[in-house]
Amino acid sequence: MVQNDMIILGIESSCDETAVAVVDDVKNILANIVSSQYQEHRPFGGVVPEIAARAHLNHIEFILNKAMDESGLTLDQIDGFAASGGPGLIGGVIVGVMMAKGLALAKNKPFIPVNHLEAHALTVRLTHEVDFPYLLLLVSGGHCQFLIVEDVGHYTYLGGTLDDAIGECLDKTARLLGYAYPGGPTIERLAREGNPEAFHLPKPLKGQAGCSFSFSGLKTAARKVILENEAKSPRFQADFCASLQKTIGDILEDRCQHAITMALEKKPEIKDLVLAGGVAANQYFCERLTSLVRERGISLITPPVSLCTDNGAMVAWAGLERLQKGLVGSLAFAPRPRWPLEELKGE
Ligand code: AMP
Ligand code: MG
Repeated sequence: MVQNDMIILGIESSCDETAVAVVDDVKNILANIVSSQYQEHRPFGGVVPEIAARAHLNHIEFILNKAMDESGLTLDQIDGFAASGGPGLIGGVIVGVMMAKGLALAKNKPFIPVNHLEAHALTVRLTHEVDFPYLLLLVSGGHCQFLIVEDVGHYTYLGGTLDDAIGECLDKTARLLGYAYPGGPTIERLAREGNPEAFHLPKPLKGQAGCSFSFSGLKTAARKVILENEAKSPRFQADFCASLQKTIGDILEDRCQHAITMALEKKPEIKDLVLAGGVAANQYFCERLTSLVRERGISLITPPVSLCTDNGAMVAWAGLERLQKGLVGSLAFAPRPRWPLEELKGE
């Protein structure tokens, strides 16, 4: 094993995963523990912020100890403590930030607040050799946006959703079909047996200039089709999910074409489109985008599925990249429910 010079612990608690990981500067993931709160939120069909905050508080110490056990290290061997400082559900963010601040203070090591979106944006550099700049499509339960990742702390927003994220559209639609949160994996599974041409659903903004998205109209149309059909029939579910997935695939393809053109105009040296966030786990979307980018002479790179959904390794890695650049946070950092990546401006 190559000798490491820096080891960072990262905490993620901005939504419904309580996660702690330990990562080093030679790209070893020394521990990666993720506890999802699916059970807690299942009866409500979505993430309930107050329940999430309490669950983070209940689980964080156990998860931290488990991660330290897995790493085989002691807290004295950690060189910095990173936490998602936002954007996210504020109750959960406070839990992770306070834990990381407490550890940093106790061990007299830096505290590194990490923008959760920056963590998603940089994860690919933990698992692949990807140089700046690259184009990022971040697709998760709450986010759907194109960014040029220019460097740590430097992002250019190209466009994003005007209303819902893809993950939300899939989660809400799956719920109408009678399936629990998260709906994305269920829809992908059901779609495998279905006919993607069975239902024609709207494709908002397809063909229009720019690379914005809109999914609320599609969500409403999907609801209408479900209400008009035999929602519990396996045949209907398979055909409907295949059609919905294809419709989103068509939208993604169209928006990506525009985003690639916009990105290459700004940064002709871009060679990669990186797909990140929970929805990037969808194999169908990845396959569609792989063939598209090939025609444009760039590569599609996706971190492994376990690092696409929320996790602590992405926070630890972003913290490590920040610390290497001397971008250390202060204990005075206040958790941020909203925190657009563009506001970082090199800080
Ligand atoms: P995140 O917000 O990054 O934690 O990701 C969670 C979101 O990713 C939820 O909306 C899930 O429904 C969605 N998701 C997870 N796996 C898949 C999949 N295989 N296909 C589509 N969406 C998925
Ligand atoms: Mg999540």
